[in-house]
Formats: sequence, C-alpha cells, structure tokens
Amino acid sequence: MNSITTVQPDPILLTPGPLTTSLRTRQAMMVDWGSWDDKFNELTASLCYQLLDIVNGTNSHRCVPLQGSGTFAVEAAIGTLVPRNGKVLVLINGAYGKRLAKICEVLGRSYSTFETAEDEPTTAADVDRLLAADPAITHVALIHCETSTGILNPLEEIAKVIAGHGKRLIIDAMSSFGALPIDAQTVPFDALIAASGKCLEGVPGMGFVFARNESLAAAAGNSHSLAMDLHDQYTYMAKTGQWRFTPPTHVVAALHEALLQYNLEGGLPARLKRYAKNCQTLLDEMAKLGLRSFLPESIQAPIIVTFHAPRDPRYQFRGFYERVKAKGFILYPGKLTQVETFRVGCIGHVNDSGMRAAVAAIAEVLEEMEVVEI
Ligand SMILES: *Cc1c(COP(=O)(O)O)cnc(C)c1O
Repeated sequence: MNSITTVQPDPILLTPGPLTTSLRTRQAMMVDWGSWDDKFNELTASLCYQLLDIVNGTNSHRCVPLQGSGTFAVEAAIGTLVPRNGKVLVLINGAYGKRLAKICEVLGRSYSTFETAEDEPTTAADVDRLLAADPAITHVALIHCETSTGILNPLEEIAKVIAGHGKRLIIDAMSSFGALPIDAQTVPFDALIAASGKCLEGVPGMGFVFARNESLAAAAGNSHSLAMDLHDQYTYMAKTGQWRFTPPTHVVAALHEALLQYNLEGGLPARLKRYAKNCQTLLDEMAKLGLRSFLPESIQAPIIVTFHAPRDPRYQFRGFYERVKAKGFILYPGKLTQVETFRVGCIGHVNDSGMRAAVAAIAEVLEEMEVVEI
C-alpha cells in the first residue's frame, strides 16, 4: 500500500483517558486473537490476577472484567451489587459523581445525594451524619479522584465510617487506580471500579470491577440487564475461562503488556512517583506563566489539573487547543459550570520533561495569540 502522508510524530495526549500509551503497548495489538484460544484466556486470567494484586484483594474479592468504557463497568457494578430494594447515598463534587446518581436514577435504584462544591472534598463527618440520619441507606457510592477537577476525596476515612455503620461502599476509582494506593484489607469495599485506559496506561475498551466475594455470590438476579450482569459474567468466566460475549481481544492484549511495563517500572509506587513529579512540574511551570490552578495543592490529586483560563478576551479555548495541538500536545477542556477553565492531565506514558515541553508549547501559543492578561 502506498499512501502519501506526512509522517508526524504522534501528539502527546495530556488527557485522562484515552491517554498516551507506549509503543510496546500499541504493538501488543498487532495480533488477532480468537476468543477460544487458550493463550488468550490465559492472558485474561493473568490480567485479573495481577489487577486484584494491586489492591491486595486476592483473597477477599473477585475481579470481573467487562467490555466497554469505564461507565459501563460503573453501571454494571451498581446494577449487580445493589439489590433492587437497596438505597444508595451518592457523594458528589463533580460531573462523575453526578453520573453515579444518574445511573441509580436510570436503573430505578432508590438513592439520595450529598453534594459539596467542586473544590470541597466530602468528609467522613458528613458521611457519618448522613448515615445516622437515614437508616434506609444500604450503600454509599463515591468518586475517589473526581476527574472533572482533579480533587481527591478522603477515601480511607470515609470507608471507616461506612464500615462502622455496617453499610457497603462502592468506589469509582477510575482515574486513581494503579497510581494512588488503595488496600482492600484496610479500605473495606463491596466494589471498586476502574478501567484499562487510565493509570495503567492501556488502551480504552474494558473496565473491571473488584467485587467482594460474598456480595458477588449474593448478587444473582439483581441486574436489570443481561449484558451488564457482573454475576453472570463472573460465573461464566469462572466456569469456562472465557468471556461471556465477544472479548475486546486487542484491548486485553494491550493491557496485559501495559501491566508488564507497570511492574518493570516498579509498580504502584513508581507510577505514583512519576505522576506526582509530572503534576508538580506542571504546576511549577504553569505558575511561571501566571496560570493558576483551580484547586489548592492539599486536595489536588496527581492525575489531572484544572487551570483558570486567562482573562484576556483574546483567549478562547478552541483556538488555544488547536494551536497547542499543532505543537504536539492535546489538552482537555474544563468541565466546570461557574468558572472558565481548562485541564491538563498528568497521567499516561509521559514524564516531567514531556510536561515541561507541553508548558513551553502553551507559553508560545499564548504569545502567538497575544494573550497578555492572565
Ligand atoms: C474516566 C472516568 C470514568 C469513565 O468514563 P468513560 O468515559 O465511560 O470511560 C468514570 N469515572 C471517573 C472518575 C473517570 O475519570
């Protein structure tokens, strides 16, 4: 095949998934696997084993992978693990928390919400008070790192309070899993949900749920949906070693390869260290340009940073985005309703020199756009 295209280096995605993956991970997708292939089913089994190990959940939990984007796995977890007569308390400080509530609404699960400002973490004291006030609540659902701003919610303290009340916890750890430590033995949860294309640096296409053994075993018949039934998915996989329906073979192979590199790099502590350095470099270099982050550093997770947009009328996100993209970096729009912002991810196959180069590109673009008032 002959095609005349200008070969340009791939842009670096500073977005919280899809994100930049390594060449090695992308090359792992060059094989077409059959779903009945023993080798492929070994890949799935090895993947689940390794994923569970990251949360220290090998004995207490099962890993149930699911085709689709992260939201599919969140919806499947709520639909499978919350009984139809259960009630979910949803803790919200951003768009993903609101999505949890929407899922409960659509699935017809009873729920209530507790919302704090987008720069205000939910506290354990809030949860303690809410649970004391409403004994009908059976489950609490929260976002660990709320990706719409980058805010970190105090998971460990909240989990303790929930366990103290004898209630169950569902964690959307989509953007934190693999980088921020979570130990299933000290953070008691019924379900923790994450996906292939975030801090593990795989490609998007599958989610996975760590479900507590007893809760999963008791979940038969809860689900409203055939395809989203994690109990059924797990039971079939345990029996046959295969995915229940067509597996995302290339995504599985890429994630398996990404995990090999994760371990080579030094596992979670090394990943956290690299992301934390990315985040600090980003904050420091942007501050030199006068660009301020939306969150105080004390509640900022090293996953994604929200910046106030420049006040200058010559700034608008579209043009800014296109110009920065032309220099090789993909940014992310803001997701706040009250303030004009944009976001820069710290995760993916990128290090602090990449972050420095990204900020240098941003500086050039602001100059080209004649943005003076920051
Ligand atoms: C990425 C993400 C999701 C899943 O989003 P999808 O677009 O469905 O992959 C869910 N929750 C959080 C906190 C996320 O960062």
